[in-house]
Amino acid sequence: MSDTLLENNQQYDLIIVGAGPAGMTAAMYAGRSMLKTVVLERGASGGELLNTDVIEDYPGFEHIKGWDLAQKFESHAKKFGAEFAQETVLTLKKLPEGLFSATTESGNEYLSRTAIVTSGGTPTKLNVPGELEYAGKGVSYCAICDGAFFKGHTLAVIGGGDAAVEEADFLTRYGEKVYLVHRREELRASKILQKRLFENPKIEVIWNSVVERIEADSDGLVNNIVLRDVITHEARDLRATGIFVFIGFRPNTGIIEGHVDHDEMGYLRTDMNMETSIKGLFAAGDVRVQLTRQVTTAAGDGTTAAIAAEKYLAAQRTLRDEPQIVATGGYAV
Ligand code: NAP
Repeated sequence: MSDTLLENNQQYDLIIVGAGPAGMTAAMYAGRSMLKTVVLERGASGGELLNTDVIEDYPGFEHIKGWDLAQKFESHAKKFGAEFAQETVLTLKKLPEGLFSATTESGNEYLSRTAIVTSGGTPTKLNVPGELEYAGKGVSYCAICDGAFFKGHTLAVIGGGDAAVEEADFLTRYGEKVYLVHRREELRASKILQKRLFENPKIEVIWNSVVERIEADSDGLVNNIVLRDVITHEARDLRATGIFVFIGFRPNTGIIEGHVDHDEMGYLRTDMNMETSIKGLFAAGDVRVQLTRQVTTAAGDGTTAAIAAEKYLAAQRTLRDEPQIVATGGYAV
């Protein structure tokens, strides 16, 4: 049975911040555990699924639109009783009495005994014309997710760090030719990755160049990238049909108040139960330190986090219900 604290609608057993695959999977499992659960999400449910046109690597779905999979995740979680509220969370903190409080832009406060952060991360954008317009139609921020759609294509990878260099190498499995476009004439990536890059005959580096705009054909599919040489100031066309942008990625952890353990990039460190350094606060999906960031791993994280949160609540309940033992010194322990 639900262990709700008060009659107030905004008191929950569990608050989940973010409705991507991790958050919605956690919501489904929390619902099945009869936890009164609310998912707070500023936009439509789906997270990174909404930036992906077609998903081909979620088991059981050989080919499904990102949007359609997101809808399925949401209705599945709702079927088991999870509530969804369109709210932009401003702060999430643990109050001295142990409750979690989430405040939102609309002025609401949600309280719960435990919380799961699944707020994902944001790939840094180029901020050039065509980038957002053609996202999922040739513009991508994830080589593992989208590479297979570009078999035989000419591709451009933007960036000079580890991610860009590693993913350029990876994308040669699919692309016939891969250009790495970097704004300087020295890569930031580690030497071992650079070596692999320079040894790959399918890769050509375009130095000292930035993307000025991305263009598409009449079907809205990317067919050209206009580059600007930062030294000569000359523009050139790069006839690529896929552009992969790897110029940084930031985990969305700014809402958490109080110190929470994270790595040097800001990703949250968790234990095997997805619990962060704040007791009762769990993290799942792209926001936490991990090897890879896929829909499958996010769903797995969400599963673990919800089950661990349920166990955390059960342990708290047991502690509360246990008769207080009075020590010989005369105080309760
Ligand atoms: P990063 O190391 O910060 O590199 C970002 C790259 O994008 C830099 O080369 C930067 O150019 C370029 N850039 C930034 N803003 C740009 C813009 N507006 N237009 C064009 N280019 C722009 O980021 P990352 O590659 O995502 O890596 C992040 C962290 O994860 C790093 O610590 C990295 O070591 C780690 N990582 C490791 C591995 C691995 O070891 N296998 C793989 C992936 C990531 P400048 O160089 O000119 O600043």
